[in-house]
Amino acid sequence: MKLLIIEDETALLNALKKGLSKSGYAVDTARDGEAALDKFYGAYYDVIVLDLNLPKLDGIDVLKAIRNEDEKTNVLILSARSEVEDKIKGLDLGANDYLAKPFSFNELQARIRALTRRDYNVKDTVLSCGDVVLDMALKKVQHAGKDISLRKKEYGILEYLMLHQGKIVSAETLFEHVWDSRADQFSNAFKVHLTSLRKKLPEGFIKTVRGEGYYVG
Ligand code: CA
Repeated sequence: MKLLIIEDETALLNALKKGLSKSGYAVDTARDGEAALDKFYGAYYDVIVLDLNLPKLDGIDVLKAIRNEDEKTNVLILSARSEVEDKIKGLDLGANDYLAKPFSFNELQARIRALTRRDYNVKDTVLSCGDVVLDMALKKVQHAGKDISLRKKEYGILEYLMLHQGKIVSAETLFEHVWDSRADQFSNAFKVHLTSLRKKLPEGFIKTVRGEGYYVG
């Protein structure tokens, strides 16, 4: 899962990037409205966390530009302005959720999970495929009741494949959703992580379709 965090308060931005990266998300950041739109036009994000008070281009204008481009990307507004008008304006303009500062990091994470679950029509935080079970809240994976220890990128690849069970996902798409935008797509990082992930899972769990991609289920 890849997130774009748009926030001009450096301390908060750094804390969010650190915490969400630690939870296994690929995290891109922007400190003003213009930089935010540059990032948005250049990549695919599962959730965009958008502060309303921003330099250069206000959060509301950023939201308008995002919605002008696509209807689907999840946008969660984050703002110190707790006034009802801002909340209503944001939701009217197509934001999917709203969180007023100060907020708890756990609540932000739970809301991000809820938005992505809605995308995939998953009602539970637990996904299963055969005897492999993945808990999106705890970021834990078990095979036949035993914990499998995965690195963050291995977990990210598996989570994305399990959310798209039965569907072929290309290497490019997996890379785009699991690595942040600074990562070099021509490096062999994806293959290295996929190989080590496969070794930790039952044999043949991740299937390859030559020239197309990978799938589970
Ligand atoms: Ca701000």
